[in-house]
Parts: sequence; structure tokens; C-alpha cells
Amino acid sequence: MMRIRQGDIETFNGKHSVTEDQQFRALVEEVGELAEAYNRDADDEAVAEELADVIFVARSLAGLRDINISTVVNETTAENLSKTTETDGDKVTKSGADGDGQTWGVVDD
Ligand SMILES: [Mg+2]
Repeated sequence: MMRIRQGDIETFNGKHSVTEDQQFRALVEEVGELAEAYNRDADDEAVAEELADVIFVARSLAGLRDINISTVVNETTAENLSKTTETDGDKVTKSGADGDGQTWGVVDD
């Protein structure tokens, strides 16, 4: 399988003269398509295609802002993996290595 590099996506951006506004709207649209796939209980292949669309557009948007998205994804993933999660009733708290608790979501019963 061909490996797609960020530079390839930036070439796409230049070739099609895409703008940040267009790609931001496209990202929201692709997230909507992913939500539709979930809502219709689509099969894994359909969900994977929508996830891939979301990732492609996010990479395109990152390229337009000169963000090295691979580095940021790795850093953020490492940070998330190092966090612990605690549940107190319906409140979920995620804490980082520095121990500061940060509320990030609510679990529905
Ligand atoms: Mg799509």
C-alpha cells in the first residue's frame, strides 16, 4: 500500500487551491457523515471510510496551517495514554501526570 505523507496532502491542497474555511466546513461535513453512518448502524467498512474522510480533511487543514500533525497526534496520544480516569457518580474525571483533575465528560446511565 502506498504511504501518504503530509507533503502529498499539501500538494493536493495547492493543486486544488483549498482554503482553511473550505476544509473546516468539509471537516464538519465529514464528521456529520460519520455520525450518519453510526446512526444507520453501518458496517465497519462504511464507518472506516467515513473515519478516513475525517482524517484526510483534518490532515489537509493541518497542512494549510503548517501544523506538523503527526508530531501533535503522537504527543497528544502519549499524553492521553498517561492519564487516569476516575468515575464519581455520573461525573468522569481525567487526570494527567501532574495530578490536576480536569472534568471532560459525563457518563449517561
Ligand atoms: Mg465522507
